[in-house]
Amino acid sequence: MSKRDYYEVLGVPRNANEKEIKQAYRKLAIKYHPDRNPGNEAAEDKFKEAAEAYEVLSNREKKSRYDQFGHQGMSGNRGFGGGMNMEDIFDQFGDIFSGFGGGFGGGFGGSSRSRTIKGSNLRIRIKLNLKEIAEGVSKKIKIKRLKPAKDTTYSTCNVCNGTGGVTKIANTILGQMQTTSTCSHCQGTGKMLQNRGSGSDSQGMINVEELTEINIPAGVSSGMQLKIREKGNQPPYSGISGDLLVLIEEEDNEDLIREGLNLHHDLYISIPDAVLGCNVEIPTINGKAKINIPSGVQSGKILRLKSKGIPDIESSHKGDLLVHINIWTPENITKEQQDFFEKNKKSQEFKPKPNGQKSFFEKVKEMFNQ
Ligand SMILES: [Zn+2]
Repeated sequence: MSKRDYYEVLGVPRNANEKEIKQAYRKLAIKYHPDRNPGNEAAEDKFKEAAEAYEVLSNREKKSRYDQFGHQGMSGNRGFGGGMNMEDIFDQFGDIFSGFGGGFGGGFGGSSRSRTIKGSNLRIRIKLNLKEIAEGVSKKIKIKRLKPAKDTTYSTCNVCNGTGGVTKIANTILGQMQTTSTCSHCQGTGKMLQNRGSGSDSQGMINVEELTEINIPAGVSSGMQLKIREKGNQPPYSGISGDLLVLIEEEDNEDLIREGLNLHHDLYISIPDAVLGCNVEIPTINGKAKINIPSGVQSGKILRLKSKGIPDIESSHKGDLLVHINIWTPENITKEQQDFFEKNKKSQEFKPKPNGQKSFFEKVKEMFNQ
């Protein structure tokens, strides 16, 4: 289906100014308003079509793009595409409707135009250690949030009877219109402060310390923000609480370094242990673990402990623990030890034979490709 030209939709010439475009849109919006045309789908389509045209032509940047490239210039722009509902249109053009006299009252289809008032959000930081990150954790944290004081009471606004809006009949050039504007007595909340509780602010609110349980899933990382719905400040009068935003911070771990889902550990072993092989303890998230180091192990070798890393927050996949072998060269040795090494300096067994060994760079490559 080809789209109609936006100027044609609004019935204005291409050189129409801002005011003319706005006036033309208002006229159409009133004419095709769903309140006036209940159940009339053609009118609803026209109403949406006009809203879309106005959305573009009332915006300087979009208008110039449309003037240059037509509808093609608008693609990639979400537009209305039929996916937009009436509430969205009202939200987008609130100024137009309120400019007309406070909006179109109760709207259509029984839905109310009054918005739910939301309290403000609260933000906290939580420091987690690797074990908590790997396993997920539930934390009980004291949080101060605004709530109505215990003895604060509200009464129903006697001007709007709690509806938050005042309905008027207005005479306009288009005939009598019923309009609703926000009740100025209660600022649209529908409620009035009846008794201001002790210690509360001018709206009857008080900061209360509350123990809040925060469940943190396994696999989070520094910088992630969790949103806990409705655990922020309560709004005065009525409405829903804001959210509690939890910023995750990761505690440094002395032994294990996190890199994405993998953990790294630098293991130092002695020359005799490297030559003879050994059984060593290494740190893991769940405490110490014993691993076997084979005899003749080379410095730089990486041992991979499968699934001993951090779980992926979005799947059941787990990272690995990579143990990097470092062979410790003694800095001070006894005369006897020195004699031993002097004696073996030229022996075949001590001569490096790196053939078949992977170079450092190959190992790094291998590590990142797995
Ligand atoms: Zn009121």
